[in-house]
Amino acid sequence: MTVHPGRHFLQIPGPTNVPDRVLRAISMPTIDHRGPEFAALVMELLDRVRVPFGTEGPVVIFPSSGSGAWEAALVNTLSKGDRVVVFETGQFSALWAAMAAQLGLEVTTIAGDWRHGASPEELAAALAEDTEHLIRAVMVVHSETSTGICSRIPEIRHAIDQARHPAMLFVDAVSSVGAAEYHHDEWGVDVTICGSQKGLMLPPGLGFNAISDKALAAAKTADLPRSYWGWESVLSFNNRGFFPYTPPTNLLYGLREALLMLEEESLPAVFARHLRLAQATRSAVRAWGLEILCQDEREHSPVVTAVLVPDGHDADALRAQILGDFDMSLGAGLGKVAGKVFRIGHVGHFNELSLIGTLGGVEMGLARSPIPYTPGGVAAALDHLADSR
Ligand SMILES: *Cc1c(COP(=O)(O)O)cnc(C)c1O
Repeated sequence: MTVHPGRHFLQIPGPTNVPDRVLRAISMPTIDHRGPEFAALVMELLDRVRVPFGTEGPVVIFPSSGSGAWEAALVNTLSKGDRVVVFETGQFSALWAAMAAQLGLEVTTIAGDWRHGASPEELAAALAEDTEHLIRAVMVVHSETSTGICSRIPEIRHAIDQARHPAMLFVDAVSSVGAAEYHHDEWGVDVTICGSQKGLMLPPGLGFNAISDKALAAAKTADLPRSYWGWESVLSFNNRGFFPYTPPTNLLYGLREALLMLEEESLPAVFARHLRLAQATRSAVRAWGLEILCQDEREHSPVVTAVLVPDGHDADALRAQILGDFDMSLGAGLGKVAGKVFRIGHVGHFNELSLIGTLGGVEMGLARSPIPYTPGGVAAALDHLADSR
């Protein structure tokens, strides 16, 4: 067995590196989830957790992965046969669309090439055609973690408003909340879906729904079957600081610590840090002479960069080499782009030196691989960091 001294570099775009402070918080003894100490923790958390979502409304926390929170968004607000529109921006949007179909919804997919975000113009056209207002919801992934593309949610909202269409807007912000600019209320989102293991710097295990008044109202008549995922009982227990089932107590300690860390740094500073490190990553990729999957300058994700390897080369072989030689995990290409891209995660508990280490690992891996490239990516990133202080 190969021994790798030093810390493993976990540079997949989630689960992300968990800060030591959060790990220590999680290691505290589990307490009675029906006692007063727990209720106080929950009341504090339900208040603080709103901040990175940009909402003053309720945020429901599930013991689940992000996919559970996807399901909760759909089953609480929609009825069998309801029509929904989904933008195909990558693997996560495709999985969410497949889930909607499995649940009995009529899914219209707006096809995409996995190199561009959701198109406000195409949405406007789809809504204009829907004169009977049969479309009940528009589903968009904000930061598509599989492609490194960040859709322009305010423009999507604008398209719905311009069309005077009553459809709800559901946004998957699993990899953006806590890392990228996000405003549930201001952007007029009806349900925001999130998971704990990306921008929120926690281990996997918590799913979130931020909910608008309109979505809460829709829940009163929506008839898709739901029990565990029902918002109503969670919200009513939450009023007193409890859950209708045994909650993941220790992850909630971790959530409190992670939210404190975001508050200490301040969200604007957190967002600026992600943007700057993402730009430095792109300067490295360009210096290597490799292609970035995202083709629209307005749509680069602040949390992950997907890099294409030239035709005839295998991105997975490069990742395996980097893992074996330098103990660094990079994100695999998923779905349609499997083997064609590798993904550099630059999200969460991450700084300039972690970026330089990460890019150094990629550049050393390229040097040992058959992939043609130009040395100098790390140097380009250093220049970017020096110029953008
Ligand atoms: C990670 C991720 C998911 C899926 O979350 P799971 O916790 O794996 O269920 C969904 N959407 C996006 C954009 C993601 O990044």
